[in-house]
This record gives sequence, C-alpha cells and structure tokens, in this order.
Amino acid sequence: MAEKKEHKIIQSEAAKTASGKGVAAQQIAQSTVGLRIGAVVGWILALVAEFLAIKASFIPSPAEDEEAVLFMGMAPFTALIVFLVIDLICVIVGSLLWKKANHIHPASEKNALTFWLWNNLGVIMAAIAFIPFIILLLTNKNADQKTKTVGTIVAVVAMLIAGFSSYDYNPYSAEEQQEILNMEEATATVFWTEGGKVFHIYEDCQHLNKSEELHQTTTQEAEQAGKERLCKTCLKRHEKEAAETPAIEEQSALESSAEAPAEVEEQEVEETVEE
Ligand SMILES: [Zn+2]
Repeated sequence: MAEKKEHKIIQSEAAKTASGKGVAAQQIAQSTVGLRIGAVVGWILALVAEFLAIKASFIPSPAEDEEAVLFMGMAPFTALIVFLVIDLICVIVGSLLWKKANHIHPASEKNALTFWLWNNLGVIMAAIAFIPFIILLLTNKNADQKTKTVGTIVAVVAMLIAGFSSYDYNPYSAEEQQEILNMEEATATVFWTEGGKVFHIYEDCQHLNKSEELHQTTTQEAEQAGKERLCKTCLKRHEKEAAETPAIEEQSALESSAEAPAEVEEQEVEETVEE
C-alpha cells in the first residue's frame, strides 16, 4: 500500500460555505412529522365539515306556516354552502402540507403502489371530501330542487379545485433525492495541487497521495486556478458510488448477515500520474 501523506488543506472562503450541507442534505435532516400530522388534521376537519354539510342538506324545508329550522345558527342552505367552503379550505391545506412533506422526505419509487398512493393521497382525499356529499344530496328525497342543483354544482366545483391543487405535478422520489444529494456532496468542493492540471472530488484520491499541500475550493475556483478538468479516477469512483447508493439498504442488510469481506482492494488502472 502506498504511503499516504497527511494533507495540509488550504480551504478557500467559498469552499468553506460550499462544504456545508447542500439543499437536499438540509432538507433530509428536517423532520416531516409535524407536516404529516398537520395534513391529517386538515383532512379530518374537512371530513367533519363534509359531515355537517350533509346534515344541513337533510333538514327538510319548512312548510308555509312553520318557522324555519336553523342549523348551527344558519339557514340550512347557507350552512350547507358554508361547510362546503370550509371543507374545501381544509382539504387544500391538508394536501399542501402533505405535498411539502413528500418533497422533503419522498417515498421510494421501488414500490410503485406505495409511491403512487403517497403522491396521490391529496387527490384521493379531495374525492372523499366531496363525493359522499354529492351522492347523498342527489339521492336525498327531502332536499328541494334548488338545494340539489346549487349544492351539487358548488360541491363539484370545490372538488375540482381541491383535486387540481392537491395533485403533485412534479412527484419526487427518494431515489431522485439521493442522486441530488450525491451530486451536491461530490461537487460542492474539489481538491487540487499547485502543480497539477486536474481537480479531484476525493481528498484520498490515489493521485494526491504524494502531495503535501492541497487546495480545497469550489469547482469554479479550481477552473480559475487553471485546473482543466476533473480527475478520471475520481470521476470513475464517483460514478461507481452513485450507482451503488440506491442499494444501500440491501447492502447494509447483507453486511450484517454475512460479515462482508474487509474492503476489497481494487487494482485500479493507473492513470498517468500527475505531478
Ligand atoms: Zn482524483
């Protein structure tokens, strides 16, 4: 094994900030429990509002000489509209929180059904928040024609608004997030030597073994310093690592079951060693 020198790293100002966590990394550290609870609470409130709208629609219209029955202090028809609007607002709030949580902690694409469900739960909730009301209103013998027509139109429009705003037009998967994370990590900062012509992703790259002093900068700064391209060994290693990452779970499961052999020393093809 080649002797490795302890590197003295000269870090540029920009590299200091860049080597901090990237956007995806920051996101992954964020908890989404609050958002998911918020979403579920929103959806539950929507169902409560739907239930109250259904109750309001079942109040028979008073006969000519009877006094109008109030529902929670409102005329039944007014109450019906008010609760449908509350229903709509709650569904949308719930779905927006859910979508936000999905973009911070996305579902894995590996299980197609779960992935679809996770990303479409908002739309499903929008349907549940209005379809029962519509069916019950249309089959309700007590409701008058005006209540049926206006109530149905309002509910259908509300359902469409809720559905379109709940739909995730840009579903994000755990795999995509991992890819971005890998990229951010790998390219945030690079290493290079004063005399070299290339820059490296990995500080422990074999071509840097003999160098005592390393510069750590952003890719842009490395290019400005005259480093023409990325080291091929680092690129190959990065591609290999990126290809392996999605399988991390299986890999660690494998490792724990059958004591994996200690790091396989790879005989890498020596690239023309740079100065
Ligand atoms: Zn390298």
